[in-house]
Amino acid sequence: MPALFVSGDPEHAPRRLHDWFRAEVRKDLAVCVEKHAQTLSCNPKRLAIRDQATRWGSCSTSGTLSFSWRLIFAPPFVLDYVAAHEVAHLREMNHGPRFWRLVRDAVPNYHRAKIWLKTNGTELHRFGSET
Ligand SMILES: [Zn+2]
Repeated sequence: MPALFVSGDPEHAPRRLHDWFRAEVRKDLAVCVEKHAQTLSCNPKRLAIRDQATRWGSCSTSGTLSFSWRLIFAPPFVLDYVAAHEVAHLREMNHGPRFWRLVRDAVPNYHRAKIWLKTNGTELHRFGSET
């Protein structure tokens, strides 16, 4: 079994672990977002990690891409898809055929990630909420 060691006071462990998860997932997502932004010729303004209870990511009209910190528990190909999905919204603010064509250009086998999220999504949302 892989183990994670958290230094410091045990009572602060959940907080520290949570901060670490957020920092790690931000790093990984930044790499994916950058890559897809180049592929799709978009210009994301800001990347935010949030405690989104029902969504994996979102894209604002101002160009901020937000992602759920719980994606840290998802495999890299899923992270890659969620990043591409939100980047594609910078060009198409809808889920129409043109939008899905962009997603496919960025991640040709994105269906695999969609299936993964459908199968495992509820499980991921069980991990500690901030409130
Ligand atoms: Zn969407």
